[in-house]
Amino acid sequence: MNIHEYQGKEVLKKYGVAVPNGKVAYTVEEAVAAAQELGSPVTVVKAQIHAGGRGKAGGVKVAKNLDEVRSYAGEILGKTLVTHQTGPEGKVVKRLLIEEGCQIVKEYYIGLVVDRGTGRVVLMGSEEGGTEIEEVAAEHPEKIFKQVIDPAVGLQPFQARELAYGIGIPKELTNKAVKFMQALYSAFVDNDCSIAEINPLVVTGDGEVLALDAKLNFDSNALFRHKDILALRDLEEENEKEIEASKYDLSYIALDGNIGCMVNGAGLAMATMDIIKYYGGEPANFLDVGGGATAEKVTEAFKIILSDDKVNGIFINIFGGIMRCDVIASGVVEAAGQLGLTKPLVVRLEGTNVGLGKEILAGSGLNIVSADSMADGARKIVALVQ
Ligand code: ADP
Ligand code: MG
Repeated sequence: MNIHEYQGKEVLKKYGVAVPNGKVAYTVEEAVAAAQELGSPVTVVKAQIHAGGRGKAGGVKVAKNLDEVRSYAGEILGKTLVTHQTGPEGKVVKRLLIEEGCQIVKEYYIGLVVDRGTGRVVLMGSEEGGTEIEEVAAEHPEKIFKQVIDPAVGLQPFQARELAYGIGIPKELTNKAVKFMQALYSAFVDNDCSIAEINPLVVTGDGEVLALDAKLNFDSNALFRHKDILALRDLEEENEKEIEASKYDLSYIALDGNIGCMVNGAGLAMATMDIIKYYGGEPANFLDVGGGATAEKVTEAFKIILSDDKVNGIFINIFGGIMRCDVIASGVVEAAGQLGLTKPLVVRLEGTNVGLGKEILAGSGLNIVSADSMADGARKIVALVQ
């Protein structure tokens, strides 16, 4: 799960990570009032969306007085920002962070990630802050410094110092940088983050080491033990269908194609997408209804697929192991009846009670094409949507 920059900074602040003073604003008036309260000579008006690259897209503006705050806030609020992370459709700005402007001497990059290679949390740093770290990693890998952290002892001061030296933090600020990194690590571990990225970390004119940006991602599987973090979720930033799917515990990812897929098990869902592509089709989604899906879940999954305008046909590929094929078939028939199915539907069932399942489908009076194998089903649905 993602949160906004201002929320990330609030979380980090509790752990002693240095961040500029700032306030969230939902309206121009709130923005001006916040700037007034901050009372800093320079105020930064920052679009809050779940995507980076805002600076380049015109979503971060430096205001020298309240009039400028007012005009920038008016300009950015409601604007659709298109950055390299939003996709071409962009994201509408509904919140602003009004923040103290700082005098930047140099921008650095600091990040914590879970590294699958080592199975550990890795601290990364670079003197190339403010830019896309992926580019630095590709073009100047020698400018990325790493420290692998032993979970038994956590980030050690010598490791943080080594990293600070590596990226060229001024010597007199090493201790502040070390404190910063250790606080960041505590926040990361305590909250089950999957990413904590500070880009840029800055050294300021008055000798501070500050996080000017903050991107925190959280492991969704651990959110049950972080109610405070879960409360920061902004549903407006997430895909509508994916939200609906998560209510019913369905794993759903929207894709660009026109064949809606309903499958049980992530592995089978991946294989189904592959075989659709193999026969020249394009899946409209990844959808795993799970091993123990109920008729209700199947109905909801069906609704989500049908509400996607891009979908021209549906392929249901279910293996009835824990779940019985007759339960699936009943769910499909019920949902198709309820929703007035007009698009082609191909169903491939295999497993427990498959005979009964097929009978239910055949006797439903609905226009359902039955398939005997994955390949057969994929070929049929690809032909039907063409
Ligand atoms: P994004 O990564 O989405 O572009 P950032 O928060 O990193 O957004 O802001 C972009 C740039 O704006 C930063 O690299 C920094 O140069 C400048 N900036 C951001 N916040 C401040 C601030 N409080 N004071 C001064 N400059 C800032
Ligand atoms: Mg940034």
